[in-house]
Amino acid sequence: MKKIGLLVLIAAIVAGFFYFDLHQLLTLEGLKSGLVQFEEWRSASPVLVAGVFLLLYVAVTALSLPGAVIMTLAAGALFGLFWGTVIVSFASSIGATLAFLASRYLLQDTVQKRFGDRLKAFNEGVEKEGAFYLFTLRLVPVFPFFLINLLMGLTALKAFTFYWVSQLGMLVGTVVYVNAGTQLGQLESLSGILSPALLLSFVLLGVFPLIAKKLLGVIKARRVYANFTKPKKFDRNLIVIGGGAGGLVSAYIAAAVKAKVTLVEAHKMGGDCLNYGCIPSKAIIKSAKVAQQMRHAEKYGLEASQPNFSFKKVMQRVHDVIAKVEPHDSVERYTELGVDVVQGYATIVDPWTVEIKLNDGGTQRLTARSIVLATGARPFVPPIPGLDDVGYYTSDTLWEEFAKFDEPPKRLVVLGGGPIGSELAQSFARLGSTVTQVERSSRIMIREDEEVSELVQESMRADGINILTSHNAIRCEKEGDVKRLIVEKDGQESVIEFDALLCAVGREARLEGYGLENLGIETKRTIVTNDYLETLFPNIYAAGDVAGPYQFTHVAAHQAWYAAVNALFGTFKKFRADYRVIPWATFVDPEVARVGLSEQDAKEQGIAYEVVRYGLDDLDRAIADSADHGFVKVLTVPGKDKILGVTIVGEHAGDLLPEFVLAMKHGLGLNKILGTIHTYPTWAESNKYAAGEWKRAHAPQGVLNWLEKYHTWRRG
Ligand SMILES: Cc1cc2nc3c(=O)[nH]c(=O)nc-3n(C[C@H](O)[C@H](O)[C@H](O)COP(=O)(O)OP(=O)(O)OC[C@H]3O[C@@H](n4cnc5c(N)ncnc54)[C@H](O)[C@@H]3O)c2cc1C
Repeated sequence: MKKIGLLVLIAAIVAGFFYFDLHQLLTLEGLKSGLVQFEEWRSASPVLVAGVFLLLYVAVTALSLPGAVIMTLAAGALFGLFWGTVIVSFASSIGATLAFLASRYLLQDTVQKRFGDRLKAFNEGVEKEGAFYLFTLRLVPVFPFFLINLLMGLTALKAFTFYWVSQLGMLVGTVVYVNAGTQLGQLESLSGILSPALLLSFVLLGVFPLIAKKLLGVIKARRVYANFTKPKKFDRNLIVIGGGAGGLVSAYIAAAVKAKVTLVEAHKMGGDCLNYGCIPSKAIIKSAKVAQQMRHAEKYGLEASQPNFSFKKVMQRVHDVIAKVEPHDSVERYTELGVDVVQGYATIVDPWTVEIKLNDGGTQRLTARSIVLATGARPFVPPIPGLDDVGYYTSDTLWEEFAKFDEPPKRLVVLGGGPIGSELAQSFARLGSTVTQVERSSRIMIREDEEVSELVQESMRADGINILTSHNAIRCEKEGDVKRLIVEKDGQESVIEFDALLCAVGREARLEGYGLENLGIETKRTIVTNDYLETLFPNIYAAGDVAGPYQFTHVAAHQAWYAAVNALFGTFKKFRADYRVIPWATFVDPEVARVGLSEQDAKEQGIAYEVVRYGLDDLDRAIADSADHGFVKVLTVPGKDKILGVTIVGEHAGDLLPEFVLAMKHGLGLNKILGTIHTYPTWAESNKYAAGEWKRAHAPQGVLNWLEKYHTWRRG
């Protein structure tokens, strides 16, 4: 309401300005003819006239009325070069800032809500470089003054920055115009003020800060190398440190384009995903699911039975699965692909040299034009008093250690309600452990929408897991063989006795011990990189968990492409890592898969959205499989066939998602999914039905009413 009031007021003033022909006063002729009178007033009371002039100038610029140029000339004519410049400089900056604020107040919310997702990159650009761009725009007086004020108001630029950059940027132009005003008598036209040569000087002045910035960048890049001697020749084009997903893909790409590449892995080829992460966790999830299906076999018309199994064999199967996948990531395979694989611990000695402590003894030094750091992450262990005394497992130790057990731990505490904690809590519960899951937040899987967490929690509670949300683990105690975890909620402590504790509260990037500190490569939870994945040293790149911000195998592989290509061909063309469409899945039961925005994200980021949902309880195949629960939820731009995000909860969610990932990546809408034949009866049909829900919600009611009339008429 307030906004409408302000808008009406501004519109009324602007209309009045034109209705009463006030704009005629603000022409060169008007100014010349009134000048004698204005000078008389100024001589009689100079301070008052200067004050009134300043306020009028502020009003004209704040309301974006035409005439600022004439008033600037008038300032020169009336107050001379110095005072004219002072008055105009402040008045124009204050007026511009008021217009900027009005535009922000009236329009920014609407514009950001409507176009927020598309403006994201622009907003980030303005946040980083806005002052530079504004300075350029202000220096070159050909960009309309009022338009800059109004457009900048829609961005995220700080008002104070806008004010001072405007004042500074407009100063030279102000002096030129005020100076022209001091010779008003000789001035025939406004275009005479700016000769082509003067205009060119302004343009040069305008682009100067941008060029200077680029130059500074180059100088800065050179300076980081100042204390090092660059080798004249290199042993390799690329050295990749770490043989996980990020490192393997970087090395693969380098070898594929015939670069000479060395991949250094200190421990196990395949990294965390193969040895401690995705593969073993998915293997145990499968065994646990079969056990759970046996328990609930009556759902399928079979007799339910308690699964009889040897836990050792289940764990052996996990290791068998790892062994079966291993050849994909093996030294032999990569050697065959043309990669020089070295097994040892690498340390970066200088920006081009890597020293490798070989696993079988000795050291090797290699130089390379570029280096990719793909050193991954490790489980974060929180500083809980007593934790070391009671002992704990992480995803790094669990697979080896649990394989020694005959039975799953009787009472298992899982710290952490994220994807890893939830997947493992559910698996061990299904394999017979009594599981207590402790999560600090108000719900597990906090990154997903609340209804997703609720569905998963419901299913996990049905598996017998005691989920303690909003609980802090505060200390561990050991008394003989009895181990306890003390948790706290709302100031109330409670005690959980356990046999084994699994710590799954997150993973931290590996940042120490291999030379980052010595070289001064900046880290902030992960290695700091720019959009091209370059570190402080433009020839050293980072990819995967160590670079963040995502911790997924497919993102590590995705980044690896950018790191390797930029490292090898960056001299000609560099590519910005593209994070626009990142999918992920959590393999709890029901599975959760997501790409793009959730409702929670959209609300937090103030992005307008519409939502359609298709319930899997309606899907023929889901009913046939007795798995008819969950949903496909699609967020779209209001009134447009543009997908903002998709969340799928249910069986096979991870495998259903890629159709939406493809659609989002290539700008396809729900109409296209609806128009695609999906095999019957499959789970994938749910995507089409979700698109159908969207279509129904956007059916043109007017046209349908007419069609109804037409058909009635046709029936006679
Ligand atoms: C239990 C669990 C389940 C997971 N499930 C999934 C999933 O389902 N889907 C998914 O996408 N992601 C999953 N992840 C995450 C996934 O494993 C990681 O995102 C992925 O492994 C990251 O790959 P990376 O190449 O960055 O690092 P890593 O795989 O950690 O590889 C880094 C390698 O670098 C080596 N290294 C480190 N420093 C040096 C050095 N100085 N010299 C030589 N070598 C060095 C390490 O030994 C390691 O092998 C899971 C993780 C865990 C723990």
